[in-house]
Amino acid sequence: MKKVIYLDNAATTRTAPEVVDAMLPYFTEYYGNASTIYELGGSSKKAMNEARETIAGILGAQENEIYFTAGGSESDNWALKATAEAYRAKGNHIITSKIEHHAVLHTCEYLEKNGFEVTYVDVDENGKIKLGELEKAIRPTTILISVMFANNEIGTIQPIREIGEIAHKHGILFHTDAVQAFGQLPINVDEYHIDMLSASGHKLNGPKGIGFLYIRKGVKIRSFIHGGAQERKRRAGTENIPGIVGFGVAAKRAAETMQERTAKEIALRDHLIDRVLKEVPYTRLNGDRTDRLPNNANFSFQFIEGESMLIMLDMEGICGSSGSACTSGSLDPSHVLLAIGLPHEIAHGSLRLTLSEETTLEDIDFVVDTIKGIVGRLRDMSPLYEDFVKKQAAK
Ligand SMILES: *Cc1c(COP(=O)(O)O)cnc(C)c1O
Repeated sequence: MKKVIYLDNAATTRTAPEVVDAMLPYFTEYYGNASTIYELGGSSKKAMNEARETIAGILGAQENEIYFTAGGSESDNWALKATAEAYRAKGNHIITSKIEHHAVLHTCEYLEKNGFEVTYVDVDENGKIKLGELEKAIRPTTILISVMFANNEIGTIQPIREIGEIAHKHGILFHTDAVQAFGQLPINVDEYHIDMLSASGHKLNGPKGIGFLYIRKGVKIRSFIHGGAQERKRRAGTENIPGIVGFGVAAKRAAETMQERTAKEIALRDHLIDRVLKEVPYTRLNGDRTDRLPNNANFSFQFIEGESMLIMLDMEGICGSSGSACTSGSLDPSHVLLAIGLPHEIAHGSLRLTLSEETTLEDIDFVVDTIKGIVGRLRDMSPLYEDFVKKQAAK
């Protein structure tokens, strides 16, 4: 395989070798069901408890507030659907933002079809939620505010503490989808007034198909999967012990290396952003310049199609992502890019690059040089660009 420069870490990450090493014995050696009483099952249970303890420690939570799930999407579904059901007597109104992950947005749409009302609060041009609008949206019937910690497309970090304060001031539960933030940013559930928090293993060099939902003690929440007594009877099913072990190791590793790793990523990210904005004309950065995930860069290049760019980057061994049509199977560009006010034609020319601890300065320089070439070639073929150049010349 030719050298790949992988800059799509918001989509998924490489499972760290020590994570895989830690998982392997739980397939072949310690394969016991954690619900059994013999020693073999006890090994599984012990490993699971260790992972739960690690994760709870990172968040400043209690062990019995961490519920393992099959990933971020399940955690988001659970938080929203079960809260809606459990608090139905108090009210039927939910507040979220326009730029949530589809795991939240599509769950909200489902709830709307089932008698709930949802307010989708606007964001500003940098993707920050409008706090005034959020507070104004609160009704006596509001039962839940769900706002993501950091956005997966444009990297913008939300004022989570302020949102939590607003929620609690009004006696409303606060859920945050922290799938992108967990492992990249320090999070303390008490400091941020978080009642529920979703995270996923494969976004922080852990395995795929494992996640957790933090549920604060005292929150009334219904079982999501009915069956056995696993996860305090709230999420039945034989536990995914290898996945849980891997997630625990990945979370510990991410917490321990956070400061150094993210400082390095921020330096490379800023180098990438600075070079692209300086060297590629008619380009903009999407998302907040400073309140953004350490590894996220998202650009819009005028007069070109993001999809064409991705294919040309792939030919050079570079993996990125675009907020435009084809990948999502719809003709509309990303709901996030539209929510920050980009016109369709600009949103279509978008490119998201998300770094990892393995990304080097050489990688970034190669990527910027490649982008310059590709943007140049695509614009040379673009009738829109030709028109634009002619108009400029006529001025
Ligand atoms: C990836 C992602 C999810 C979904 O997580 P899965 O584990 O893939 O189901 C949810 N929210 C955000 C913000 C994400 O980036």
